[in-house]
Amino acid sequence: MRIGVLAVQGAFAEHIAKLNGMGVDCIELRQRADLEQCFDGLILPGGESTVQGKLLRELQMFEPLRDRIGQGLPVLATCAGLILLAQRIADDETVWLGTLPVCVRRNAYGRQLGSFHTEAQMEGIGTVPMTFIRAPYVESLFGADTQILARVDGRIVAVQYGNQIGVAFHPELDEDDRIHEMFLRLCRQNSA
Ligand code: GLN
Repeated sequence: MRIGVLAVQGAFAEHIAKLNGMGVDCIELRQRADLEQCFDGLILPGGESTVQGKLLRELQMFEPLRDRIGQGLPVLATCAGLILLAQRIADDETVWLGTLPVCVRRNAYGRQLGSFHTEAQMEGIGTVPMTFIRAPYVESLFGADTQILARVDGRIVAVQYGNQIGVAFHPELDEDDRIHEMFLRLCRQNSA
């Protein structure tokens, strides 16, 4: 089992440290040629979605990534990663990968509440810690095939659509490994 972690900007090192700690090998995806290596799942880390999206375009990583996700490569997208996956961004014409049929709202908790920590129920896992940093939330779902995995204060903060898991928070920053485990289960099922 090997996981590709998008490493053009943002909190990729924290995902790699967590996965290595769980005994899983990772490769850093920094340029187009890195996408030719074998990996069983993809992590899109938090950071700045606009910067990440532009870099993906410049580095010509955009289309191969979108194609692999479309073909069913399991993805765990956190925070900015969720914005990259979304089919729509509220009050914004930009669409990046657009493989996840949801509309997200960026920086959605206002300045005061830009960063906070809480705990909430995550479908199939139980109560998990959640660290939000200038996070988006999911404003609406398109179609019935997207499952809501978690809400905080009534707002959707985690969803799954096929092999794509999108969370608005940063599971790589907390001790709890269960969200990464959930993603690794998807990767194992998919490569079995
Ligand atoms: N605010 C960032 C964005 O819009 C996301 C923040 C994060 O990934 N922690 O891209």
